[in-house]
Amino acid sequence: MEQVKDLRNCLQKGNTPYRGRAILERFDLSVDDLVMGVQCAKCLQYPMVRKRDHWSCLRCGFKSGDAHLAALRDYQLLISNEISNHEFRKFTGMNSRKVAWKLLSEVCLQHSGQTKDRKYMLDFL
Ligand SMILES: [Zn+2]
Repeated sequence: MEQVKDLRNCLQKGNTPYRGRAILERFDLSVDDLVMGVQCAKCLQYPMVRKRDHWSCLRCGFKSGDAHLAALRDYQLLISNEISNHEFRKFTGMNSRKVAWKLLSEVCLQHSGQTKDRKYMLDFL
């Protein structure tokens, strides 16, 4: 996991266009090597859980309304520029399809496909 964190910091500092699964392959990692879930901005632990209208840290109790944005940024840097509702729920550990739709619709202005096949573009970051 330290390797992934170093990689993320390197990408952000260098503003490199080298994105997506190719970067995982370069470091001989797969998506399964990544820690899934929303990270707490206060204690840096995983995961935060989604409550009715905010994220809550299981360890320190910190609450955030937009902690999913950092998770989406990680997803964009490490996996893909687009994400489906199912992929978002799997990556963040969220159960509600409706809440996932609401959060993605708020931040992703562009999407392609319909209903279950819809992909949201992560170009807001
Ligand atoms: Zn915390």
